[in-house]
Amino acid sequence: MLSERIKGMESLKELYKIGRGPSSSHTMGPEKACLTFKEQNLDADEFKVVLYGSLAKTGRGHGTDVVAVQSMKPHPCSVEFNTKSENLPHPNTMDIIAYKDGKDINRKRVFSVGGGSIRFEGCDLVTPPIIYPHRTFKDIAEYCKEKGFRLWQYVEQTEGDNFKAYMEEIWNTMKSAILRGIEDQGILPGGLEVHKKAKHLYNAQHIDESAETKENRMVCAFAFAVSEQNASFERVVTAPTCGAAGVLPAVLFYQQQKHGFKDEQIIKALETGGLIGNLVKTNASISGAECGCQAEVGTACAMAAAALAELFGLNMDKIEYAAEIAIEHHLGLTCDPVCGLVQIPCIERNAVAAMRAINAVSLASFLSDTRKISLDKVIVAMRKTGHDILEEYKETSEGGLAVIMNEN
Ligand code: SF4
Repeated sequence: MLSERIKGMESLKELYKIGRGPSSSHTMGPEKACLTFKEQNLDADEFKVVLYGSLAKTGRGHGTDVVAVQSMKPHPCSVEFNTKSENLPHPNTMDIIAYKDGKDINRKRVFSVGGGSIRFEGCDLVTPPIIYPHRTFKDIAEYCKEKGFRLWQYVEQTEGDNFKAYMEEIWNTMKSAILRGIEDQGILPGGLEVHKKAKHLYNAQHIDESAETKENRMVCAFAFAVSEQNASFERVVTAPTCGAAGVLPAVLFYQQQKHGFKDEQIIKALETGGLIGNLVKTNASISGAECGCQAEVGTACAMAAAALAELFGLNMDKIEYAAEIAIEHHLGLTCDPVCGLVQIPCIERNAVAAMRAINAVSLASFLSDTRKISLDKVIVAMRKTGHDILEEYKETSEGGLAVIMNEN
């Protein structure tokens, strides 16, 4: 269900969202769907939610059932996990049914399309407006060059008043997640007995502590901090999703600590990174269930690389190249969360991608003159690769680590 029909792009407010983890598509999207449906059916006295596809296969680990029941309160709500239905119109499909005195009075099919966004089948009522006139990096870059804009100026011009205040809240929420995360200790919920490690990483000494290894350790500590908060059902920002929420804040917070960048500078970087995320969301996917983890952590890495390139004042070509490198080397990355929890491999993967984003910017700063692949092309490659990845590796927990981990 890729958005070929759309001529431009939605607001970055549809990309950066604040909500409770652990999964934008499995908790934030279904929560929004349930609350919207409840609001539309005020006569109902009971609800039922039927989860299909990836929502059914990994919904328990992701807490989809818990969110559905909570959203429908004070009314009772039952949740059915339908893992058998095939040929679904979207891998994250759910039906919501309203009852009154035991009679079915309304039902809707909803798709959780990634990043907390939803689409009601046959109904465009909740489809956010298209506010960006362009949908390729090439067109945006041409427009910006003509106007003498940097990418963040294009974003601010398009988003209009109040957007900076929105982005301040986004950045403050990202920072809060890091600060909470590097103090937090204990075991993550879900039964895998995964220990929270951000605090340890933050305070530890590397066996070969140097400026470089310390940078790695700190960036990883910040990525772990956000991802562990996400896995603990705490508040995070989708960047572009909950599962990949640690990458971008880790890179920017580290640079702010190191160089003393002001919040206004970080927000411009976030706007630049957000534009890259929006391009992927529009032309490929940011959903692990649609295109695998390349769409989530790969996109997060590209957003972080572009944001950092903006923070360092690199030119348009270098920003593009940094984002392109970040995606290119995540192509084909599968999504195989163990027990359907957003913990293994997700938390470590956020840290690795954060370091990779910094490397991508270094490479781009030297090599952009000789590059051969555009950002637009690599996004198309992500989409095609995502379609070719077997379903077992797209947030179903039926392949890869999710299966191997449970074998003797
Ligand atoms: S493996 Fe990647 S896409 Fe899958 S749940 Fe984890 S972070 Fe999300």
